[in-house]
Amino acid sequence: GRVSRTEQALSSLPRRKQPGFVDLPEYKQVVMQQRASEYLGMENPFYRAHEGASGATASIGGRTFDNFASYDYLGLNRHADVLGAAERSIRQFGISASASRLVAGERTIHHELETAIAENYGTEAAICFVSGYLTNVAAISCLMGPRDLVIHDEFMHNSGLAGVKLSGATRRFFKHNDVADLERVLKSLADQYERILVIAEGIYSMDGDVADLPGLLRLKEQYGFWLMLDEAHSLGVLGDSGRGVFEHYGVDPTSVDIWMGTLSKTTCSCGGYIAGSEALVTLLKAQAGGFVYSVGLAPVLAGAAIASLGVLRAEPQRTQDLRRNSQLFLELARKRGLDTGLSQGYSVVPVLVADSLRAVQLSNELYEAGVNVLPIIHPAVPEGLARLRFFITSAHTEDQIARAVDLTATILERLKQQNFGLASVDV
Ligand code: PMP
Repeated sequence: GRVSRTEQALSSLPRRKQPGFVDLPEYKQVVMQQRASEYLGMENPFYRAHEGASGATASIGGRTFDNFASYDYLGLNRHADVLGAAERSIRQFGISASASRLVAGERTIHHELETAIAENYGTEAAICFVSGYLTNVAAISCLMGPRDLVIHDEFMHNSGLAGVKLSGATRRFFKHNDVADLERVLKSLADQYERILVIAEGIYSMDGDVADLPGLLRLKEQYGFWLMLDEAHSLGVLGDSGRGVFEHYGVDPTSVDIWMGTLSKTTCSCGGYIAGSEALVTLLKAQAGGFVYSVGLAPVLAGAAIASLGVLRAEPQRTQDLRRNSQLFLELARKRGLDTGLSQGYSVVPVLVADSLRAVQLSNELYEAGVNVLPIIHPAVPEGLARLRFFITSAHTEDQIARAVDLTATILERLKQQNFGLASVDV
């Protein structure tokens, strides 16, 4: 065939070679880790597919497990009101919002949801995003820029970190839940910045302890910054009626500038939200990239979340049940000498087991015994702080809790004695 002049010219140029994905060192590392656990005869506890709705129990591989690995804090994932609302919203709106809210994706159900969220916090307004993760990324990167300062708790969720990085702001952290350390950072840097954002979490996702909100508010008085609280694990959990960390401490919720939360946990849907002043919400609606350039929240998810918030109001007993169960778990675990770290027993209770391999082993043995709880290992937590993370729900029975604690303590005791020296196996 004939070859054009341009093609001839191109073919004589040196060609750049792009590595394939299989050649990437990052990929090789993932494969290495998988091989290592196979070599050690360890089953992979991650990505096991459940066959139904998971809450206090889960069905996996044809077996029913006592489940401590799902966010369904108040047992609403199969609540009749929630299912009914989801069905009604599907009938009315279909599944998708079919466009960005800015351009034809706005639905009446979005307003209903945002009103319900604002009502929870007593704020002027709220805005919802398609995921909790995206909410942090979109809101932080919208509000902060390269000339600004973000100071966050060292245990902040990865989504907050992603938001700060995208913003280009200077980033500092303070020691976990330590307002004295936050003050040290503020003292040395506050003068140099016009906008400062401080980020903390109502309940910390890996440790289960509660933010020192009164301490943060005292510093806010003096140093003047925006305070953002991530309520992913505390909505429905803290406070007598489950309104969150402000109710826990009895403080005025409007003294916090930015309430952030997710719809994927207590409200058993998917999505995230920011609640705050009218000005804050107006700004985010106009300028947050992850809102403007992403589809509106699926109406069915909005419908489910609205109904969940309704159940939370109508059945406060669920929050009490969750608290009783979490406190029971914590008390029994401590009695058996388990290291529950910083957990205050409201929703998340970790059992620390030091090294990652032991955490996986413990999780796998519990799985064999019919208890589903997942290990959290490096890089999600620092090496040496591997743990099992128990999510407690209002729907767990005392028997389930007692059995899980007993099995965990018994198996862990045996694993410690075996001292199989896995860490030194050369792979
Ligand atoms: N913030 C915190 C503290 C979280 O734990 C999570 C998720 N586990 C998120 C944000 C992100 O929320 P989602 O999973 O709903 O995207």
